[in-house]
Amino acid sequence: MRALALYSGGLDSVLAIKIIMSHGIEVIPIGFVTPFYSPDVDYGNKILGVPVISIDITEEFIDILLSPSHGYGKNMNPCIDCHALMIKKARNLLGEYNAKFIITGEVLGERPMSQNRWALKEVEKSAGAEGLVVRPLSGALLPPTIPEEMGWIKREWLFDISGRKRNRQIELARLLGIEEYKTPAGGCLLTDTQFSKRLKFLIGIKGRPSREELELLRIGRHFYTDNCWFVIGRNERENKLLKSSRIWRYMFFTIDYPGPTGIIVEGELIDTAIRTLIRYSDAPRNMPVKVKILRNSGESYITESVSLSEEEIEKIRV
Ligand code: SF4
Repeated sequence: MRALALYSGGLDSVLAIKIIMSHGIEVIPIGFVTPFYSPDVDYGNKILGVPVISIDITEEFIDILLSPSHGYGKNMNPCIDCHALMIKKARNLLGEYNAKFIITGEVLGERPMSQNRWALKEVEKSAGAEGLVVRPLSGALLPPTIPEEMGWIKREWLFDISGRKRNRQIELARLLGIEEYKTPAGGCLLTDTQFSKRLKFLIGIKGRPSREELELLRIGRHFYTDNCWFVIGRNERENKLLKSSRIWRYMFFTIDYPGPTGIIVEGELIDTAIRTLIRYSDAPRNMPVKVKILRNSGESYITESVSLSEEEIEKIRV
């Protein structure tokens, strides 16, 4: 008997998978990846002892992100539609992997909006997987599933955990010998207020942002004024990522002083962008500073400008 499991990298999904594995069922963990969340595959491989299959669902995810049929959570997180999408993808893979059902680490009542009884049922329905989803942590509190009715799994294997407290999961982790696990903070950027604000801005100017644009939102300081969107790195890692981005129109950096890399993604407001960059460099304030500008066509030139003031920068910060 074989099952597919949604692997998130969090303790709940690890426990759910381990519980079912402990009864001799072969489990294939699948980690779904978007620009907002990617499960830790190395950790999963190690802790589960079987390889996690990573599947990128960005394009379908953008569709639900723009218009989630079940709405958003507190921020831009369309959790019910996101769960339904992942279950639907897993449902469609059952045949390919010769698997019979799907396991998730969902816990009844752990998240009031997306993990109540109605939501758990609704995601199965939306995903076309009614009765095929086993939630080992809460299954004893939920209606019997097809795998139970068919005798593929036993109801007594399932736990009756509910609510937001973590003590039962922590005890279970101890019993199953899981010593290393992550806190349930989630790590999905869509639950972050500041990131959600940036995302709303991007959807406002682009309609349907591309994967590269969404990935860019994760790094740097963002600014927008007069139809010009530019980004300035906050550290060496971000400067490198900005340099390797494929969606810049202009790239710029100070020549005589250490400083960040900046890119213009949309628009032509070069002077404002380089004046903002100078503010974040080590160059002195209130005196002209040389900045090199590269166009994406390959040409480059050097210009001079002075830093914008803090007040001016705050007005255009996204
Ligand atoms: S928190 Fe993020 S990854 Fe998790 S269900 Fe919600 S939208 Fe999906």
